[in-house]
Amino acid sequence: MLQTTNRPDSPVSIIGAGIAGAWQALLFAQAGHAVTLHERSDADMTASTSHWAGGMLAPYCEAEVAEPLISRLGLRSLDIWRRELPDTPFNGSLVVAHPRERNDFERFARMTEGHRRLDAAALAGLEPSLEGRFRDALFFPTEGHVEPRRVLPKLHARIKAAGGTIKFGSDVSASDLDGLVIDCRGLTAREEQPGLRGVKGEMILIESSEVQLSRPVRLIHPRWPLYVIPREDNMFMLGATSIEAEDTGVSVRSALELLGAAYAVHPAFGEARIVEFGSGLRPAYPDNLPRIGVRGGKISVNGLYRHGFLIAPALAELTLNFVERGQIDNEVMQCA
Ligand SMILES: Cc1cc2nc3c(=O)[nH]c(=O)nc-3n(C[C@H](O)[C@H](O)[C@H](O)COP(=O)(O)OP(=O)(O)OC[C@H]3O[C@@H](n4cnc5c(N)ncnc54)[C@H](O)[C@@H]3O)c2cc1C
Repeated sequence: MLQTTNRPDSPVSIIGAGIAGAWQALLFAQAGHAVTLHERSDADMTASTSHWAGGMLAPYCEAEVAEPLISRLGLRSLDIWRRELPDTPFNGSLVVAHPRERNDFERFARMTEGHRRLDAAALAGLEPSLEGRFRDALFFPTEGHVEPRRVLPKLHARIKAAGGTIKFGSDVSASDLDGLVIDCRGLTAREEQPGLRGVKGEMILIESSEVQLSRPVRLIHPRWPLYVIPREDNMFMLGATSIEAEDTGVSVRSALELLGAAYAVHPAFGEARIVEFGSGLRPAYPDNLPRIGVRGGKISVNGLYRHGFLIAPALAELTLNFVERGQIDNEVMQCA
């Protein structure tokens, strides 16, 4: 058991202001702890994996490939997102396929819950830009999405409003800090986290005023779940590859596949302007599941893999429940 339990005013230092650390800082600050969030980069957060993410809050769609644990944490997180940031769009997500991927589309439908089928007319009713594009679609009405580059600053502002302190340009290690330390350094923590690896995800940002979408659209693809996510100002994020590599380049092949997916969703994307190519390294343990590790006065929260935005609120709640009440979630927590 941590020495710091039961003392809400005791110092809590959180290292890393990506999506994992931001949610830890918010829930601990709201619970009355004296929180300091340390981030070695600046407020733009371009060095974090979180900066490159799609921001889909899609526990049902992810169940196609992820373990039930991700759905459990994801569903709990949706409630916390709704409670803490009520303006988060929860207007669902769509899955579509071209005829040659029909079998994979049906498999996706069988592997997932929480959806209903739309025929072409209903799809056009929901997303007029997609009129005549697809025979049918799967609609997951309760899923949400956030724009990572807008929601991280919002969370940081909420942390300050709750009494927490954020120090950007603060490159610290746990041994420099007093009190409880929560290590949310993502892939940087690999020297202390056996097996942690980076899984590259490439993305492209495009701008088009020809297509309007209100929610993420996933296109069934034989290799990767490809998607188009609407952003503000006529922007769309195209994502994401999943490659066992730790360089941060974007290959021609990946770019062709991502742009091809957008073109397949709507040919008007062919005229879109390319704004940015980029990639991030998803921190993942060998089983691709998240872990809250407890050792002495230090807790590590890592391995959020492709689900950081989806599960970070629930992980923060579990950490808080452990620190305040000693509750242990055996599926996620490892106590040394
Ligand atoms: C292309 C792509 C698309 C994705 N799409 C989605 C999606 O749609 N939905 C979803 O849920 N997830 C998605 N993800 C996954 C998600 O981005 C990750 O799970 C998440 O960003 C991991 O967050 P993190 O806070 O653990 O790490 P990071 O975001 O990397 O944050 C760690 C922070 O720690 C800081 N740091 C490191 N060392 C120190 C130190 N010594 N002192 C101070 N600060 C330090 C770093 O600067 C960094 O800012 C996607 C990822 C990629 C790459």
